[in-house]
Amino acid sequence: MPSRTPPHRPVLWIATANPGKTREFKELFGARFLVRDLHSFKNLPVIHETGRTFEANAKIKALALSRILPGQLILADDSGLVVPALGGRPGVRSARFSGPNATNESNRIKLLRVMKKLKNAARKAYFEATLVLAKNGEVFGVKRGRVWGRITHRDYGFGGFGYDPIFIPKSFARTFGQLSPRTKGRISHRAQAVRGIRRLLSKRRYQLGMHKQS
Ligand code: IMP
Repeated sequence: MPSRTPPHRPVLWIATANPGKTREFKELFGARFLVRDLHSFKNLPVIHETGRTFEANAKIKALALSRILPGQLILADDSGLVVPALGGRPGVRSARFSGPNATNESNRIKLLRVMKKLKNAARKAYFEATLVLAKNGEVFGVKRGRVWGRITHRDYGFGGFGYDPIFIPKSFARTFGQLSPRTKGRISHRAQAVRGIRRLLSKRRYQLGMHKQS
């Protein structure tokens, strides 16, 4: 039987140890790329996300990892949930919104608590993802995606990760936690940004050394 997997798949390192993000990147890039993340790295230096924007933090992660893994293609994702009625919170602090030992659940509980008295219009929110592609300490491109929606009053569904069970994307009646991975993978902030990165990878494949066997 002929294999349907392309023989020389470029390796794409994702600068994350978040299994939810990695799962989505694997689906979004499909079989043409070998997507790897940092979960199996034991002694990686801590990368401090000190930026005030998604782009600044994505660049910090992409450049730091591209120096740790010379010659490798690196993709960093900095993303989060923005609630305009809360002045943009949780924003770049989405992962640690409820403190240094935050979990996805504790973050959702805190957000629902601070939004308890907010009525419909004030419950508008968007997810944003900024992706930065880097290699050998050089940034090759920045791509963004954004999806608007609203925050519910409690969890619905168990799919996805992070704030998915409390976010209903615009024009839908169910949360990202209830919608299928396929539907989220069509409309999400991360899916939009990945489409931009895929175009960039294909345009700059010679410069990025992707025509060679990795
Ligand atoms: P980062 O690792 O600093 O980029 O943290 C991103 C955080 O934003 C995650 O830990 C989640 O809490 C949240 N987040 C980002 N993208 C998503 C998503 O697609 N669904 C749900 N939560 C997300």
